[in-house]
Amino acid sequence: MDEFFTAEERRFRDHVRTAIAEMLPAHLAVHTRSHLHMTREIMAEWNRILHARGWSAHHWPEEFGGPGWTPIQRFIFESELARADAPPISVFGIYLVGPTLYSFGSAAQKARYLPGILSGEDFWCQGYSEPDAGSDLARLKTTARKAGDTWIVNGQKAWTSEGHFADHMILLARTNMEVKPQAGLSLFVVPMSAKGLTVQPVITIDGAHSVNSVFLDDVELGEDALIGEVDQGWTYAKFLLNNERTNNAQVHKSRREFEKLKSFARQPDGRLPADCRERFAMIETELAALEITVLRVLADEADGRDPGAKASILKVIGSELQQSISELAMEILGEEAVAARLPLSNDNDDYAAHWAEKHLFRRVVTIYAGTNEIQKTIIARTVFKG
Ligand SMILES: Cc1cc2nc3c(=O)[nH]c(=O)nc-3n(C[C@H](O)[C@H](O)[C@H](O)COP(=O)(O)OP(=O)(O)OC[C@H]3O[C@@H](n4cnc5c(N)ncnc54)[C@H](O)[C@@H]3O)c2cc1C
Repeated sequence: MDEFFTAEERRFRDHVRTAIAEMLPAHLAVHTRSHLHMTREIMAEWNRILHARGWSAHHWPEEFGGPGWTPIQRFIFESELARADAPPISVFGIYLVGPTLYSFGSAAQKARYLPGILSGEDFWCQGYSEPDAGSDLARLKTTARKAGDTWIVNGQKAWTSEGHFADHMILLARTNMEVKPQAGLSLFVVPMSAKGLTVQPVITIDGAHSVNSVFLDDVELGEDALIGEVDQGWTYAKFLLNNERTNNAQVHKSRREFEKLKSFARQPDGRLPADCRERFAMIETELAALEITVLRVLADEADGRDPGAKASILKVIGSELQQSISELAMEILGEEAVAARLPLSNDNDDYAAHWAEKHLFRRVVTIYAGTNEIQKTIIARTVFKG
């Protein structure tokens, strides 16, 4: 991608590459290579290290603790993190809740919650989806009823990632039955330790525990739990979902995985196996196109233009590419991938490790963050509008 960067941006890349190499402890890189789901401890450790450098929330505005980088500098930084096998930091606090709170939260909420998100001391989860409300969130049934100075919450949330180790949930609940569905929703902060809140593990197809069902039975919240205005939750939730559009492309992760797969598959003569050379070439081309599209969206954002359907294109192509890479890896690894399903120790970062689990769990990337069918409808509407 060098040709897209100015000399100054290349110097920035060298600077962050050196800094990451100095900051990243070897055991965190090994953990990233050998584990599919990150533990709270691993994410918190890396978050703390980045925070000490002022880089934990690299896309936040400076006034709230971000480093003040341009969109291209953020892109370069994210690419260098992936290149170094740095663990991801929890997406919910830094990417979703932080920006919602500094955009719509009260001064007290900002003071109370932003420092813990920045430092990685506090973990968050997202309580939007329900058993009968996923793509169509406006159908959600969880209610928050006002009783004096208190909100009483009842309902069930589904697929709550990281809910089993989060400290807080950002909750979308119905506060008004009298208006059209989207108009009667509000956003709340809920402590996961609240009386009446129960977390039930859900084991996914890869055999792991990363998601949960969360039950809320007469959970009492103070007035200060409400984010922004009552009944405006839909507007805030949409903001939250649209925030960090480029993150959904997972382009840096795919690039890293693809380069590793190429190195692994190369024969002694340096060539890729003849029977899958074409697949490698197709993924290479799509990946390069995705990288360029991410840069175009970043350029739109930098110039204050709405990237429109490009954000949906990033989600569709980015998620399909992740699945194509894991399908190719499974074919190349064959039996080795299945053998590597055996439990691995922390210091075993064998390339085949966890590919089978990764491949299975990767069904999710075309489902969450807005399913690909929904994204395709958005693209079609934009294309056929004119
Ligand atoms: C592993 C995992 C982690 C998740 N983590 C979280 C989380 O942390 N917090 C959270 O709130 N949610 C989370 N989700 C939920 C996720 O956002 C929803 O699963 C997703 O929005 C789809 O909703 P649904 O499962 O109810 O499927 P549905 O909306 O019922 O969709 C079922 C199928 O119908 C299709 N479909 C639905 N409506 C349309 C339409 N109008 N046009 C065309 N096709 C349509 C969909 O594309 C899909 O293929 C997670 C999900 C998974 C699987």
